[in-house]
Amino acid sequence: MSANGEQSGAFGFPHRHLLGIEGLSPLEIGFLLSLSQDYADRNDRGSGRSALLEGRTVINLFFENSTRTRTSFELAGKRLGADVINMQVGWSSIKKGETLIDTAMTLNAMHPDVLVVRHPDSGAVSLLSQKVDCAVINAGDGSHEHPTQALLDALTIIRRRGALKDLTIAICGDISHSRVARSNIHLLTTMGARVRAIAPPTLMPRAIERLGVEPHFDMRKGLADCDIVMMLRLQTERMQGSFVPSIREYFRFFGLDKEKLLAAKPDALIMHPGPMNRGVEIDSEIADDIDRSLIREQVEMGVVVRMACLDTLTRHLRPDVAPVGAAAS
Ligand code: ASP
Repeated sequence: MSANGEQSGAFGFPHRHLLGIEGLSPLEIGFLLSLSQDYADRNDRGSGRSALLEGRTVINLFFENSTRTRTSFELAGKRLGADVINMQVGWSSIKKGETLIDTAMTLNAMHPDVLVVRHPDSGAVSLLSQKVDCAVINAGDGSHEHPTQALLDALTIIRRRGALKDLTIAICGDISHSRVARSNIHLLTTMGARVRAIAPPTLMPRAIERLGVEPHFDMRKGLADCDIVMMLRLQTERMQGSFVPSIREYFRFFGLDKEKLLAAKPDALIMHPGPMNRGVEIDSEIADDIDRSLIREQVEMGVVVRMACLDTLTRHLRPDVAPVGAAAS
């Protein structure tokens, strides 16, 4: 069985859950991206709202803090007419294993149609998906995967550059602790982009080359001729011990500023998944540069990507659903 679970009656996306990007085919990723684009076009025309999920229930179950991801899923569900319930589970009530499964069983008894789950432990969302009857979307599990972030990043790039294939994309910063980096690496390499990872040795996972990525330990060398520069936050909440000598030193060597950016292509575009630490991994001037920063557009694309994911994973519930690939045109 695939990591995302199998679904009978295959549509363009023959999986029951969206737990990660790893293992998805270019066609499946392409399906989700073109449906997302379709929703973006509908939003632009002012016809983004629908009753597609009327009578359906989406539960946002967040065991970790989130502002943009939770709000984005909430908005996506509401734009499709679903009843959306937000459940924030505090740190104090996380006892791992049993609590997670207990929570899953309780929610399952309420018969939701989709569970959107964020959890601080890698693998927890997958475990939960095995215990419930509904579709599960991983909204970030530990340092493992954050599939909808990678999809919204890909959509943002495609809207600016036309395609992902043959672009050179640098992912810079705390690669070791980043689920955003992992999901993006899987997606971008699957879709034919050249991916570089730039980090200090303490924040670079061992054997990252096995994921088809070129590792770099120097920003200027790693950024040379890049089309896209994707910055990451220092994920101090996942660090045990000290990984950088000081914030000041980290910014000096790995923070994106005007001077380091000169190594990239003159029209290179800047991305960051947020929340952003200005002056730690990115200089404010670059983050706010309206000609080069895609950060605002990333947030905007988050909603349409999540609409596409909710639509896709509930298609088996709708008898009037379009045939295979119809939405991908
Ligand atoms: N918002 C992203 C995540 O949940 C990135 C970050 O927190 O730095 O992984």
